[in-house]
Amino acid sequence: MNDILIPFLKPNLVPKEKYLLYLEQIDQSHIYSNFGPLNRQFEQRVLGDLFEDDGAVATVCNATTGLMVAISLVRRPKGRYALMPSFTFSATPLAACWCGLEPYFLDISPEDWTLDNELLQAALRRLGDQVAVVVPYATFGTAIDLTLYEELHRTGVPVVLDAAPSLGTIWEKEQFGKGFPGVVVFSFHATKAFGIGEGGLVYSGDISLIERLRKATNFGFSENRETTILGLNGKLSEYGAAVALGTLEAFSAKRKQRLDIYRQYVDAFGSYGLLQKGWVVQQVRGEIPHQFFPVLCPETDFNAEVVNRMEKLGIQLRTYFSPPCHQQSLFKEFPRMNMEVTGQLAQRVLSLPLWEGMENHEIEMVVGGLVG
Ligand SMILES: *Cc1c(COP(=O)(O)O)cnc(C)c1O
Repeated sequence: MNDILIPFLKPNLVPKEKYLLYLEQIDQSHIYSNFGPLNRQFEQRVLGDLFEDDGAVATVCNATTGLMVAISLVRRPKGRYALMPSFTFSATPLAACWCGLEPYFLDISPEDWTLDNELLQAALRRLGDQVAVVVPYATFGTAIDLTLYEELHRTGVPVVLDAAPSLGTIWEKEQFGKGFPGVVVFSFHATKAFGIGEGGLVYSGDISLIERLRKATNFGFSENRETTILGLNGKLSEYGAAVALGTLEAFSAKRKQRLDIYRQYVDAFGSYGLLQKGWVVQQVRGEIPHQFFPVLCPETDFNAEVVNRMEKLGIQLRTYFSPPCHQQSLFKEFPRMNMEVTGQLAQRVLSLPLWEGMENHEIEMVVGGLVG
């Protein structure tokens, strides 16, 4: 076993000083959950700061629950399939399964590694009313073109966007997802840029949709506490909201740090000549508060071998998302189309270390290690 010199991640949540004041407010108010004052305050601020008060948000206990509740609420009742990429985190298909749907896996575009629009449209033509919902994933935090998804939503095909790592992603001067009429789900897990431990946020340009979602995360209760829709308990506690408020205040500095490190990686990939050797950096849209640095090794290499080689140097890599969902035992039997691009990526994709406070010499160590 080699000592780890460079771990994959070093999650660095805001220190307690940033939210002590909010904790004291909890002691004073004796309100600990159920969309209390801190949750409301956080929702209001995040909507104002990031979404320019366009639409509405509700906090959730984690993004997986947010996806479940959103899919359950918007799905076409008679539909059977949730169309989605296989190149995503298993939470995406799991959320569909919990709604009684079958994930239907589609391939991604070789350029940006997000759901291929033409394949999606072909699947929609073929499956028609059997499609209950479309669940695209904004791969590794990138912004994606939402034109087609807005169109689908308008024509009655519901869309729930898994944008788990995309809070803070700016595209055309706006938070990615702003104004989207379907549901956008963000994660506050400790490993995400907006990390608070466990938590998440659901956003929609459609305010009434968020109000229904909020009810669904509170046992489906109507005003008089009668359960009227299929709900569960998906609420974020006031303690979680306290950390979220502290995080929001620190977030622009966190974003900037991650963006800086990302740029240093891109520079190092250039100066070490990796691009000429067949390495590929993810083609992204917008400014992303990166979770890690996703790349492809040359076609002639295997990511698993690179991981082993780097481990000997004390550098910890991961291979998100390899194996992709359709190769994992729970999801193997679900329907899918040709997985050519996903299959190729599964052999080449690597996630390089990135954390706030990572220094340039550490980035050079990683990139230098890849050169061999
Ligand atoms: C992190 C992540 C999730 C899960 O988020 P949780 O808040 O941990 O439930 C879902 N989908 C994707 C793509 C993710 O990266």
